[in-house]
Amino acid sequence: MIIDVHCHLADKEFNQDLDQVIQRAKDAGVVKIIISTVNFDEIQKADRIVQRYKDYVYLTVGCSPILFDEGEIKRIREFIKNNRDKIVGIGEVGLDYYWVEGEQREIQRRLFKEWIVLAKELNLPLIVHSRSAGKYAMEILLDDPPQKVLMHAFDGKCGWAKKGEEAGFYFTIPTTVVHSIQKQNLVKFLKIDSLMLETDSPVLAPVRGERNEPANLKYALETISSLKHLAQEETAKIIAAATTNFFNLEV
Ligand SMILES: [Zn+2]
Repeated sequence: MIIDVHCHLADKEFNQDLDQVIQRAKDAGVVKIIISTVNFDEIQKADRIVQRYKDYVYLTVGCSPILFDEGEIKRIREFIKNNRDKIVGIGEVGLDYYWVEGEQREIQRRLFKEWIVLAKELNLPLIVHSRSAGKYAMEILLDDPPQKVLMHAFDGKCGWAKKGEEAGFYFTIPTTVVHSIQKQNLVKFLKIDSLMLETDSPVLAPVRGERNEPANLKYALETISSLKHLAQEETAKIIAAATTNFFNLEV
């Protein structure tokens, strides 16, 4: 029983064969999938996917940290407020220092703080993107944390991850854990109870350059189990319990 808590099935990469992708996920033991959106246009499409695979696919709505169109951001926020019961979280949102510098980083920090306020207001989990900005995202979050925080594909230092863990934040381990030493270290460093699984499909595939899909979650589970010296079944059970509790899902 494994759950992919973060992927992008509304991405055009899945336009042709989504039914098969979902079937392969089910065959691989994936019992639920949570999809993430990064702009306004994606929301409608993601919503249709959620309707089509009801009680299997769930929705989080967010905004890419490199989206700076304030009109579009406002429309995304309105959608979230008006559809509070349709979604299981806000995200991904956050910081991305890999792509921007200087003043744009400042704007990202301001917008990120506004997303934190919204998550608190609506009492929704916040799914945080923090590429090349782990420390900065963590500082902002720890200053005034929302109720539930999930750090997605965290690439910061283990010390900062630890501070997050101490504050009750969760971390999703992506499928790249099969080859990424940084992700393997994160798994070793954090407690098994703080971890969840994600593919971030269509990216972050276990094999570099390939299209990723939720069925590949099993490879992340294998790696995590061996790093934690646990049976796969036991690992899956612990992680699924944390995940269903965090997102209020019924399995
Ligand atoms: Zn993502």
